[in-house]
Amino acid sequence: MDLQTKALHAGYEKDTQGTMAVPIYQTTAYEFRDSQHAADLFALKELGNIYTRLNNPTTDVFEKRFAELEGGEAAIATSSGMSAIFFAIVNAAEVGDNIVCAKQLYGGSLTQTAHTLKRFGIEARFFDVHEPSQIEALVDEKTKVIFFESLTNPSIDVADIEAITKIANSHGILTVVDNTVATPVLCRPFEFGADITVHSASKYTTGQGLAIGGIMVERKGLVEKLRDNPRYTHFNEPDASYHGLVYVDVGLPPYSLRARLSLLRDLGAVSSPFNSWLFIQGMEHLALRMREHSKNALELAQFLESHPKVKKVNYPGLKSNSNYDNAQKYFDGGQCSGLLSFEVSSLDEATKIVDATELYSLVVNIGDSKSIITHPASTTHQQLSQDELNACGVPAGLIRISCGLESSADLIADIKQALEA
Ligand code: PLP
Repeated sequence: MDLQTKALHAGYEKDTQGTMAVPIYQTTAYEFRDSQHAADLFALKELGNIYTRLNNPTTDVFEKRFAELEGGEAAIATSSGMSAIFFAIVNAAEVGDNIVCAKQLYGGSLTQTAHTLKRFGIEARFFDVHEPSQIEALVDEKTKVIFFESLTNPSIDVADIEAITKIANSHGILTVVDNTVATPVLCRPFEFGADITVHSASKYTTGQGLAIGGIMVERKGLVEKLRDNPRYTHFNEPDASYHGLVYVDVGLPPYSLRARLSLLRDLGAVSSPFNSWLFIQGMEHLALRMREHSKNALELAQFLESHPKVKKVNYPGLKSNSNYDNAQKYFDGGQCSGLLSFEVSSLDEATKIVDATELYSLVVNIGDSKSIITHPASTTHQQLSQDELNACGVPAGLIRISCGLESSADLIADIKQALEA
């Protein structure tokens, strides 16, 4: 079945009312038929609803549908993209372990991995996403996860997914790929050897900036990589917190099962039924939107490249961009999503342009249907020195745009008048 067809139908069997729209099951708990039924559900002898922190029928459709789009086996919806990343990592790593991460990560992922996980006793080591071979020197027997973004935010680089997963697989290490910006429409990391993907559903999945959420997806057959793997003994040994369950022996996707039974149960960062429902609505037209976002971004990037005031344009769909070949290899039809950035001469020039735009909203978000403009040096990266800004690829004159779904002619006209104001 084609991805667009799955986006409309996967994971939903109409209930007795025959409702075309997936119903919102706005409930905290579910009545058991009798005590035996309750005991069987808790013992996993029968699968079913217990309590919305563990599972919910609306969230279940979101999880199944997203897993289908990504080409995975199972998914766990979470309350935010950040919690999806946290779950994906701490499902494998614990105190004394380390993870190897790309330097080019979303700011929140950088602080989570470098600072917050450190407080949990997990050390993050960093490699340049353009130099996968650096990973070799960073891994050891305590490395549990290699984490990177397929299309990086905000640096807009495209990872060589196959090169990274090849190194990870040679050591039996799990790869976690943040596929938020590319979405399953443009890129499916499992086809290139990745094990787990994570997404901020707050971006293109909802598509209209409506809700915060996240999702973690597990590839098909991951159980075989975990089985008897000395790095992941906790998947192979009885879990004392769940009456001795051995996750690889249950016959269900083990990474998601452990995330649900242990992490969702104990940490509770669950998607609300209403937010899951919003994500389901967004997924119905995700593929159509991604085509438009990509087309608009390419046209805007081409215009910017031809403008004398613009020093540099970062968009992997441009032939001049160093990520072009990876984008052609990893992204369907070479479409590159809606994120681009460009550089003008100075901080003052950049803020003048940002303030002169009329159609773009000055917002720190991406993936909305409405176009967004951001000046990282005066907002998200304000605390960094000039040298630090240059080192992380965010020069003072850099402007980031998340291209929305307005007409590209209007988007170009507004940037043109702002550049020339
Ligand atoms: N991953 C990427 C690539 C992001 O851009 C973001 C947010 O901007 C996140 C994760 C975090 O997602 P959330 O804001 O839903 O927690």
